[in-house]
Amino acid sequence: MDNLKEKVAYLQGLAQGVQLGDSKEARVLSEVINTLQVMAEAIDNLQLNQAEVEEYLVSMDEDLADLETDVYDDEDDDADAEFLEMTCPNCSEELYFDQLLLDDDEVTELVCPSCGQVIYEDDDWYEEEEGISPPETEEND
Ligand SMILES: [Zn+2]
Repeated sequence: MDNLKEKVAYLQGLAQGVQLGDSKEARVLSEVINTLQVMAEAIDNLQLNQAEVEEYLVSMDEDLADLETDVYDDEDDDADAEFLEMTCPNCSEELYFDQLLLDDDEVTELVCPSCGQVIYEDDDWYEEEEGISPPETEEND
């Protein structure tokens, strides 16, 4: 806030220039200007500190993003953590299937454990069922 300090400096120069004298009002005015100078210094220090804190937060946020990337990439490697959520088109039961089953070429169908309806057959099963999206898989580097 250089602008604020400049304004206070200008006020000080102005007060000296008009020669306020020794009246009570002049002393009060002089003290007000001195107080303004102290406040301008304090605000300037606060803003410097805040800029440092913001810079620190930004670097911490970047570190956290890196950490999250590492952690979630590790989870992707762990196939047990991958589940496909879907709703049975026959009985509307909420179902969770291990992603491994769907990626496995030898598995050609999945059966709803609630009603026994076959809800997954071959690879093009999701194109025939409305409202069911194909399983999303993220490519790991
Ligand atoms: Zn069902």
